[in-house]
Amino acid sequence: HARQVTTTASSLAAASARRKSSSAPGSAPARRAFSVRGASSSSPSPSRMVPVPPSRESTLIELNTGYNMPLVGLGTWQAARGVVGQAVADALELGYVHIDCAAAYANECEVGHALTAAVAKGTVTREQLFITSKLWNDRRRPEDVRAALQQSLADLQLEYLDLYLIHWPVVWRRGTLMQTDGGASLAACWRALEAAVDAGLVRSIGVSNFDEGQMAELMAAARVQPAVNQVEIHPRLPQRALVSWCQKRGVAVTAYSPLARGGGLFDDEVVGDIAAKHGVTPAQAVLRWGVERGIVVIPKSVTASRIAANRDLFSFALDEEDMKGMSRLDDGTTTSTSPWSDSGPTAGRNKVLKPLISTLLWPVFKIISVDVQRMGRTGFIKWSWSRE
Ligand code: NAP
Repeated sequence: HARQVTTTASSLAAASARRKSSSAPGSAPARRAFSVRGASSSSPSPSRMVPVPPSRESTLIELNTGYNMPLVGLGTWQAARGVVGQAVADALELGYVHIDCAAAYANECEVGHALTAAVAKGTVTREQLFITSKLWNDRRRPEDVRAALQQSLADLQLEYLDLYLIHWPVVWRRGTLMQTDGGASLAACWRALEAAVDAGLVRSIGVSNFDEGQMAELMAAARVQPAVNQVEIHPRLPQRALVSWCQKRGVAVTAYSPLARGGGLFDDEVVGDIAAKHGVTPAQAVLRWGVERGIVVIPKSVTASRIAANRDLFSFALDEEDMKGMSRLDDGTTTSTSPWSDSGPTAGRNKVLKPLISTLLWPVFKIISVDVQRMGRTGFIKWSWSRE
């Protein structure tokens, strides 16, 4: 498998090297080409190339900021409060170091408790951890960006984030859903994120749910280039063009919903045959398909046995025939239900849905204000007339 990852990575590295950015963020190491660590021909130690859990030396991908990102992380969306802390604790015990969070998941406080407890117990050190969070859609003004970041840091009980992503390429008025903020922009928001890198609050910054056009616009104006684009990817939605566009430009890709939330993949005959051939579960075969493409996968689970299996992806490899078989599953199916998405497979539907919902919601946000940053604690709906 290392050879396959190397092939992908070295072509990416060459493309990335051709397009070097003129600046490197704050205290980060010098900018390097995009590569998969431990899989390059110049460091051919098989034991490092094929680490098997519970080793913490899980295969890493090197970001364009010079920091390493583990290819497998634990997703935390819809991991309920009261459950998510145990899932994170289990994952860390099982060798995970990469946790994917977001303010909008309303559970960062509990994740933070679990992280602190694991570090105190000596399960893991802060330096080993790779923690991602995401900036919600109504926090686009520079002062709101900094406050939201500070809140996520406080909730996660961290001094810095390893990666902070713009959750969606949309600009909403504070406290609303889908109400455009004419006084804010993604460009100004990005500058605030660059300032957060300079201040040492974040190591790498990136985006989520951006298409090629949105990426190009952001990258043309950026001083610190996005390190990651996190988008929905699984065999039913391989996103080949977007993945290739990003990887050629040194932007690492993270697959969210990498199991398509179950979505028919586990019962699929092709997946079943590939899994049986390698003596692994269908979920492992599907996740390995992502890793083979040099993509970071962040499966969510709150079930210890599944958490363990989902990280055990480095003791087998898919061959060309398996990859071809998986490509037959591509039917454009998306798990995304977000009506505000302008890109991806639901864009057509949302063209109609978005203005409709947005208009219907307009009077609602005259009365109430939603505070996503507070969802993980208490009272996230406020009466508008009591707003300062
Ligand atoms: P997913 O990881 O594709 O699927 C999660 C579902 O699969 C859960 O129901 C889980 O059940 C089940 N599952 C996990 N491992 C399994 C296994 N080995 N065998 C059978 N079932 C298994 O979907 P997701 O949660 O949508 O995506 C993963 C993460 O991506 C999220 O948690 C979040 O961190 C991130 N995400 C980001 C965005 C974005 O806009 N940036 C959007 C969506 C998701 P149990 O938990 O009950 O085990």
